[in-house]
Amino acid sequence: MPAHPAPASTFDAVIVGAGVGGLYALYRLRKLGLKLRVFEAGGDVGGTWYWNRYPGCRCDVESLEYSYSLSDELQQDWHWPERYGTQPEILRCINHVADRFDLRRDIEFNTRVKEAVFDGNTNTWTVTTDTGRVVSARFCIMATGNLSTPRTPGYPGLERFRGKWYHTGLWPHDGVDFTGLRVGVIGTGSSGVQSIPIIARQARHLYVFQRTANFSLPARNAAMDPAKERTHKAEYPARRRAAFDTPFGIAGYPPPVKSALEASDEERRRIYETKWAEGGSISFLYSFTDLLVNKEANDTASGFVRQKIRATVKDPKTAELLCPSDHPIGTKRLILDTEYYETYNRDNVTLVDIRSKPITEFTVTGLRTTDADYELDAIVFATGFDAMTGAMKEIDIHTDAGQSIEEKWRYGPRTYLGIMVAGFPNLFMITGPQSPGVKSQMILACEQHVDWIADCLQHLREHGLVRIEAEPEAEDAWVRHNNEVADRTLYPLANSWYVGANIPGKPRVFMPYVGGVTAYKKKCDEVAARGYEGFRLVAGGEMHRFAAQ
Ligand code: NAP
Repeated sequence: MPAHPAPASTFDAVIVGAGVGGLYALYRLRKLGLKLRVFEAGGDVGGTWYWNRYPGCRCDVESLEYSYSLSDELQQDWHWPERYGTQPEILRCINHVADRFDLRRDIEFNTRVKEAVFDGNTNTWTVTTDTGRVVSARFCIMATGNLSTPRTPGYPGLERFRGKWYHTGLWPHDGVDFTGLRVGVIGTGSSGVQSIPIIARQARHLYVFQRTANFSLPARNAAMDPAKERTHKAEYPARRRAAFDTPFGIAGYPPPVKSALEASDEERRRIYETKWAEGGSISFLYSFTDLLVNKEANDTASGFVRQKIRATVKDPKTAELLCPSDHPIGTKRLILDTEYYETYNRDNVTLVDIRSKPITEFTVTGLRTTDADYELDAIVFATGFDAMTGAMKEIDIHTDAGQSIEEKWRYGPRTYLGIMVAGFPNLFMITGPQSPGVKSQMILACEQHVDWIADCLQHLREHGLVRIEAEPEAEDAWVRHNNEVADRTLYPLANSWYVGANIPGKPRVFMPYVGGVTAYKKKCDEVAARGYEGFRLVAGGEMHRFAAQ
């Protein structure tokens, strides 16, 4: 009996995931005439925006930016009702894209990829799903997302808890009504901070269990300004191009010109006040040139936000607990909120410090910390994800040469450009580790990767090549470069998911590329222009060509 049943179908490429990246890959690679199949674990398209349906979920990048640029007609037609898109609105747009471009016919939903094995003789991947599908493809494209593997803490006793519990990243589709309930939210990252003000308005009492305070800025969300929308739409193509000439892949924010340390106290205060009133994280981090590279400069911005927290939160003890003190502002994902700090002035909200008095277990009626029992009807885990590597490692990806991704990344991810991994031919990642993905506008990042991959496949086809593989030396140099760039910034000072700090036992390696979108895209373009420098390309006989040739 063979270990795997013979593949029932053969494709040019299998795409894993029908989120923003996977859908665009399907759209773009179809234009090359390839035979494609997408497997998606969820019941529909959307990825992140399909799963994260918690109250208050919305994007922290402005809606006119956080949108596909794949069709000018689409971006002209689509109307974003607010400055920042809500989860339902973004999902509606993604569904519209899937329908408008007839993408669903190549997607198998409710189908989770369990295994992908490369055969070096035929240069093909065999992909097995939890529905028993076994297919083969010349190329495998992992559009599995960076924040798609939700994690709940391992405290004992959750199975005893008689109330209901939820994870923000796996929220029930028909919503949750917390009216009249005693609710506990564990976690104060972006998901917690967005949901807490809304849950507080419904709950009888809300306990927020905070381990680490985070910096949050006001989003200043508002209805879309029609004049702004008109101007933006008139300039869309130019703005999309300009976005690649910015560090975070978002145009429209004038770059800073001076160090925070060159400004007087009064000038600094004036600038921070303006940015605070404007809302938005990039705008705030663009106050000065050196907020992310110089601790002393950063202290001025961190101190400003701490003062704002103290001025907002009436109870001084609660205010102090909410003031972040263990990391420079911006070195963890800077949060945007709507009335987060104000929520702690409500009588029905209690902040519980689980840094000094940790949770020890869940009980039948709630949870226990080292000094108290909390009676709860519902618990919300806003505890984040096994970020950046989790989804790839959940799939058993290996080659007939005996290498596995699990083993290869044991001490942290290693990639070339965040697109390929040495030892794993014909396997592409969309916004993989060591690419700027999560440190940039994600849709732009996905589009840039997919376009690069599409051009690469076109090149392979035109040159009769059947195999592409990152060279180990190129990968080593890229990993080294990533570390050097990160070490020139303050980012590694934070215990963030960027370094895997939220997952016990995960190797502490700084995972995103923080050299900026401009430098990164230039490097990707140069690599391609030089005939895929750093990659080994292999020609094949007629029988090995991909099906669409
Ligand atoms: P997160 O940023 O990783 O935050 C998780 C929170 O849970 C942290 O406060 C963490 O505390 C806490 N936590 C984790 N394990 C815990 C444990 N065992 N006991 C107690 N507390 C624990 O996760 P997230 O809020 O879901 O956000 C993840 C990322 O998704 C964001 O950074 C952002 O990139 C993206 N996101 C974006 C938006 C948006 O666009 N607006 C919204 C939501 C999410 P510690 O800090 O002490 O580990």
